[in-house]
Amino acid sequence: ALVYLNGEFLPLAQAKVSVLDRGFLFGDGVYEVIPVYGGHFFRLSLHLQRLEHSLQAIHLENPLSPSQWREVLQRLVARNEGLDQAVYLQVTRGPAARDHAFPQPVEPTVFAMSNPLKPLPTEWRLKGVAAVTREDIRWKYCHIKSVALLANILLRQEAIEAGAQEALLLRDEQLTEGAASNVFIVRGGVLATPPKGPFLLSGITRDLILELAGEGGIPCRERVITAWDLTQADELWLTSSTREIVPVTRLDGIEVGSGKPGPLWGQMDILYQEYKARVRAG
Ligand code: PMP
Repeated sequence: ALVYLNGEFLPLAQAKVSVLDRGFLFGDGVYEVIPVYGGHFFRLSLHLQRLEHSLQAIHLENPLSPSQWREVLQRLVARNEGLDQAVYLQVTRGPAARDHAFPQPVEPTVFAMSNPLKPLPTEWRLKGVAAVTREDIRWKYCHIKSVALLANILLRQEAIEAGAQEALLLRDEQLTEGAASNVFIVRGGVLATPPKGPFLLSGITRDLILELAGEGGIPCRERVITAWDLTQADELWLTSSTREIVPVTRLDGIEVGSGKPGPLWGQMDILYQEYKARVRAG
């Protein structure tokens, strides 16, 4: 497998970054994860737009234009095995003597790698997963896709140690998102997800589900979801680029709705798989 680092394609083992890189020292960087199906990028321009927004938010100039990004990422995918891949890219503020203040000039580090995109465990689709609720201990810029993920990692690990797959995060008793996913709730046939804002990442999958719901005539709202709403849910879903739509069937040890993946999940999953099949076909 070849990776991309600062203008070159090279074997992973040869891709080296300075220990003074601000990504390493401060978590001073942003990233994206983009699925590839049948060799075709899934919603690439939206990922590149979000990357631009993340970079603007941390006052780091985008080192590549959209067409340069497309070329680099396409070449990366062509140099890696398999038609279904997950491309990871990251831009950091680069190496500099350790100082909180931005270096002048900046030499950003641009890195991208691609890994095979494994299908989801069938168990998750058949039975759903367990989740736990946790206080959202993160900062107030969660709309930035920052590589500084310490809080997300600690929260995900807590979920795993509690025998669950994901932590659903509550800020002042209101749902924001999962440790690495957005969250949807179904109640009385109506789908809902928290509104965008600085407390959650604007998920590409989240937006696609809103689009598909609109086209499919599924009623859908962007609204505040409270801790109490979660206990009343008929269905709960997690969404992310690599895991698609995962039904949550146990929350904090209690069954969600029927305790099985729900009918609206089934309907949305079909719409999502149809959309993916169109991307795959080119
Ligand atoms: N929120 C967080 C905190 C995430 O890390 C992710 C994905 N990694 C998401 C939401 C989902 O975003 P997307 O649908 O763009 O993958």
